[in-house]
Amino acid sequence: MRSRFWILLLVVVVLGAACRTGLRTRPSTRAADVDGDGRVDRIVTVDERGQITRVVEAPEPGSDPEKTVVIAIDAVPWELFVKVQKEGLFTEFFPPAKMIAPYPSLTNIGYTAIFGTAPVLGYEDRYYDPEANKVRGGVSDRLFNRYKGVAPFHDVFAWEPPHLWGVGIYYFPGTITKAELRKIEQILHESEEDELVLYFGGTDALGHVRGWKGLEEYLHLVDQVIRGFLAAGGAERRVVLFSDHGTSAVPSQRVDLKKAMKGAGFNLRKHIDGPQDVVAPAYGLVGSIQLFTQCGQEEAVARAVLAAEGVDFVFWRDGDGVAALDPEGSADPLDRPEDEYPDLRRRVEEAARNHTANPASVFVSLKDGWHYGSGLFEFLADMKGTHGSARATSTLGFVASNVDRLPDTLRAEEVYPWFGLSREPEPPRELSDPCRP
Ligand SMILES: [Zn+2]
Repeated sequence: MRSRFWILLLVVVVLGAACRTGLRTRPSTRAADVDGDGRVDRIVTVDERGQITRVVEAPEPGSDPEKTVVIAIDAVPWELFVKVQKEGLFTEFFPPAKMIAPYPSLTNIGYTAIFGTAPVLGYEDRYYDPEANKVRGGVSDRLFNRYKGVAPFHDVFAWEPPHLWGVGIYYFPGTITKAELRKIEQILHESEEDELVLYFGGTDALGHVRGWKGLEEYLHLVDQVIRGFLAAGGAERRVVLFSDHGTSAVPSQRVDLKKAMKGAGFNLRKHIDGPQDVVAPAYGLVGSIQLFTQCGQEEAVARAVLAAEGVDFVFWRDGDGVAALDPEGSADPLDRPEDEYPDLRRRVEEAARNHTANPASVFVSLKDGWHYGSGLFEFLADMKGTHGSARATSTLGFVASNVDRLPDTLRAEEVYPWFGLSREPEPPRELSDPCRP
């Protein structure tokens, strides 16, 4: 009964969103790369009779324009952005940097590292609060608009999809992402702000439900909106596009964590009252699992997790470093090829102590083709892709600027200065080990 109520509510929400999906008709434009550096630097708009109605020049490379627009497009993989740019999209931008997302490659963690905002309370909107010893947040936080308290990075966005859209997005990703496009197009053309940070959030779910194909089709629409804005005068601004992580390109199935825990005598619960209790908040369908245990139980729980099919490797805090295991029993489970597991050791060490106010006790990275998450999202889809794991396709987002030729690779924490925003990021906070007070 309860889930039927949510679905009914979603339909109402989505119908509201769906009424506004028509985009502006794109004017006829001619773009030219005058200096031959691979980036379009002049856009000419012509009317039906072929008369030139406007000419805009892009900013000098490396300059510091007075006005700035930063747009997050959630979950777009670096490789996909490179592909569409080669096919003629986003030609007003220099080639993108590979953005190495933190581990786990999840939305809350990604934006927190990129924007330099205060640590999030949870890896996802549903999270474990050790002080209250209970699982909090989730869909009800979305419905009652409390999720910004969980994830302070949301405050950086001048516009992001209304909180109710976040609930419906998994069910109607196409409708909601188009409503986002329409709204962002309107803001781009009407806003007089010197600095604007906007958020396409629906692409995260679009990548899960429709995969790279869905994302690619959507990027064509984003390109249309951005090009229209640039041609109308926006090209004189700094415009930076980026994503918070990538998306894997394979369908996935659910890891049976419950069975693995039970097999080793542990119980998956919503609070920890004894040494056998383990909490593993389940929310979106993602390629990582964060488990909370009593202090001292980390290794036993990590060993128990290895019994589940789909586990790539597990790690936990061990003294000042981390210890790791994989199902193959490798001597060093973190010794993996850089192109498949970018910057792995550093990301794993930071994950154990950073990014959230309450770091997990045990971290699990899943193989491609596997996910963990909430049953509420499970029934909707054969999942076409996901993210969260340490693997490259899940990890590598992109950053592209129309002003700066960016380095080939940027860690999430190195991206912010390239945005050209006046807001000072918060200094990174090293969080203490909850088991060593
Ligand atoms: Zn995301």
